Amino acid sequence: MATTKIHPLVDNGVKHGTPGFTGGTLTCKCTRDPVTVRIASNVAFNHVCGCSKCWKPAGALFSLVGVAGRDKVTVTANANKLKVVDEKAPIQRHACTGCGVHMYGRIENKDHPFYGFDFFHVELSKEPGWEEPKFAAFVSSIIESGFPPKRMGEVRARLKELKLDPYDCLSPDLMDLIATHAAKAKGTYKEA
Ligand SMILES: [Zn+2]
Ligand SMILES: [Zn+2]
Repeated sequence: MATTKIHPLVDNGVKHGTPGFTGGTLTCKCTRDPVTVRIASNVAFNHVCGCSKCWKPAGALFSLVGVAGRDKVTVTANANKLKVVDEKAPIQRHACTGCGVHMYGRIENKDHPFYGFDFFHVELSKEPGWEEPKFAAFVSSIIESGFPPKRMGEVRARLKELKLDPYDCLSPDLMDLIATHAAKAKGTYKEA
């Protein structure tokens, strides 16, 4: 049986990032007047995501997505081509109206646990060195995009082989961040 394809950037093995990497420029797929976005830091929480909202390249089962502080993200060319995909979504994905690629996702709700982080896809940058993806989020969600449920075992086995621990929500670290945010809002948070 052929190896289950996850995403072109991990299918041949996860390539480790360069320590001390300081960022790069994302470029959309337009051959004329591409949108460019400068990210002035490395990526954090880089992972593959099975949800149906993230942009992914044609044929990929998962997207590759991570975050940077919103103050590190600057649109550097052709900002006029960007449009928010869904104004009502918690993450406002700014997509290129020419090629459809999502250049960055931003959270405008200050009460959201991930407020202050922008989401982006490192594969849009030519610079090597971004921190590698470390887990797989929303794995079961690929079924909603049309993947046969009976083949989920193959997908989870391949993710484990790639050392991308599969989770059906986010990773434990991120789930803990969300719950901590909720506990602080409720007044039930305890330091230790
Ligand atoms: Zn474009
Ligand atoms: Zn996603």
